[in-house]
Amino acid sequence: MITPDRTRSLPLQALAWALPLVRERGATLAAVVILSCLGSAAALLPPYLTQRLVDDGIVGGKVELVLQLCAVFLVLMVGGVLIETLSRLSYLKLSAHLLFGLREQVWRHLQTLAPTYYARTRGGEILSRLDGDVAEVQRFALDAPMAVLNGVFSLAVALVLMLSLSPLLTALVFALVPLQVAALILSRPWLERSTHAMRKESAAMSSFFVESLRAMKFIQASNAARRQEAGLRAHHGDYFAALRRSQLASLGAGGLQRVLSGLGVLLVFAVGGALAAAGDLSVGVVVAFIAYTTRAAGPLQTLAGVFMGWQRAKVSLERIRELAAERPTVQSPAQPVPLAHPVRGELRLDAVRFGYGTEAVLEGATLDIPSGTKLALVGASGAGKSTLIDLLQRHYDPQAGRLLLDGVRLDLVDLAELRRQLVVVDQEPVLMPGSIRDNLRFVAPDADETALMRALDLAGLGKLAHAGGLDRPVGAMAATLSRGERLRLALARAILQDPAVLILDETTSGLDLPVAQAIIGAVDRVFAGRTRILITHNLASVGAVDRIVELRDGRLVEPDPVRSAAPLLRVV
Ligand code: ADP
Repeated sequence: MITPDRTRSLPLQALAWALPLVRERGATLAAVVILSCLGSAAALLPPYLTQRLVDDGIVGGKVELVLQLCAVFLVLMVGGVLIETLSRLSYLKLSAHLLFGLREQVWRHLQTLAPTYYARTRGGEILSRLDGDVAEVQRFALDAPMAVLNGVFSLAVALVLMLSLSPLLTALVFALVPLQVAALILSRPWLERSTHAMRKESAAMSSFFVESLRAMKFIQASNAARRQEAGLRAHHGDYFAALRRSQLASLGAGGLQRVLSGLGVLLVFAVGGALAAAGDLSVGVVVAFIAYTTRAAGPLQTLAGVFMGWQRAKVSLERIRELAAERPTVQSPAQPVPLAHPVRGELRLDAVRFGYGTEAVLEGATLDIPSGTKLALVGASGAGKSTLIDLLQRHYDPQAGRLLLDGVRLDLVDLAELRRQLVVVDQEPVLMPGSIRDNLRFVAPDADETALMRALDLAGLGKLAHAGGLDRPVGAMAATLSRGERLRLALARAILQDPAVLILDETTSGLDLPVAQAIIGAVDRVFAGRTRILITHNLASVGAVDRIVELRDGRLVEPDPVRSAAPLLRVV
């Protein structure tokens, strides 16, 4: 699991996240390091050999040496290509492992966060962290050490070879390095700010897409398509402005580096050329040196690039750390108290208090629901009925009081076990993309075809199921099913889950009375003798119940006979 550690500096934080994953691929990492060092060495030898070719071979008139050196050049060339291919393949393997590993950790973390987090965070914001920021960190975590290793190695080898050729020219090549470092340090805030702005705009654009796609039908019905296009254009404009600023920052800082290292090369040209013209230096040495100077400029620029890359990665790292700092509101207990099987489904709320902010939604809510009760829960909109269900399914824990299932406090029960025993069917159940079979298997991966068909039959979807319906696609937004069918499919899922407690949260509201009663009839048949809680504002639609409770002013009370439409009640 990805955990934030504010006591660590960002580079150490990045290492703490990346190291365990890189360690899992130790052999690949070793291959990448060895191959890239070999590649760098193969690339550095030719200028040295060129000097021998010119001074000893050509000027010295040794044809045999010229031919021998040409053969060595050929071997180096082919070897270089082979080494580079192998090195890149190994690098790809390592890089993918790190990217996927980091992303899986962030995803695992996201799956533990409470509904309140998802209610206040825009989808695109999460997407951009999950995708763009994780990729940025992964790129840096691998590219940077590789680039530093390669850069330092190449520089060291080049330095040794250059010093052996001419210490004076070597000093000239590195004369401008302090200026390059100063330029980098000065451009740092600029790079960081522009990257931050770009990531923010990119997240805003992702949010725009996520939210608009979900609301497409509403956009069409509201004749808002043109306005949405204008909205997208505005996002594009903002994104482009941020992108341009970020590119300008990179180009500016990178350009300055190139000019400075170009000046170093020019110095070598001028001084080396003058020395060779005066006969104080051999032509071969000057030729080799010019090649080394440009080659040494490469690693220097790479190191500068790493520094600039770090400014970008830092922004992404901070954004991932923010996400990792979001703590789950609940956790499964390390030593859960096992529920006695079969689970009876007896629920108890004892002076429960809960609020999202300072204001309490539930305050002193107390209720006993004996096993097998069919309970109707009524209450005004916003009274806290769905909140109560979220507490029962343990998306949150109460701030005071206790909730118990079969006498065991919910926070002591294994979370997965609790959610297996306490299933909620919503007013608009979530259906996953894929077929009806996929949707059923989502909650019951091991159920066989017979069990799936039985569940669909019991939920009143038998006709659809028998007409090859298991393979029927549900559609990306479950748009190919009617609302009644979606509810029945959700009920079939609940049947497969076989819980001790079933909760219907306004499930049948808005349906024709006969359809609502048919669905409730199916529930009563399948779940007879088990605890059922039906949240409703229309008691007629839930059929006969054992008890009615109203949630009012944060408490569970006997219903107000006027407000709960007493004439419709049929309590058994
Ligand atoms: P009901 O299901 O009875 O209509 P809810 O449980 O959905 O009521 O909401 C109870 C109260 O809590 C409402 O005032 C609602 O605005 C508030 N509420 C619900 N969810 C959140 C949330 N994620 N963050 C803040 N307040 C919330």
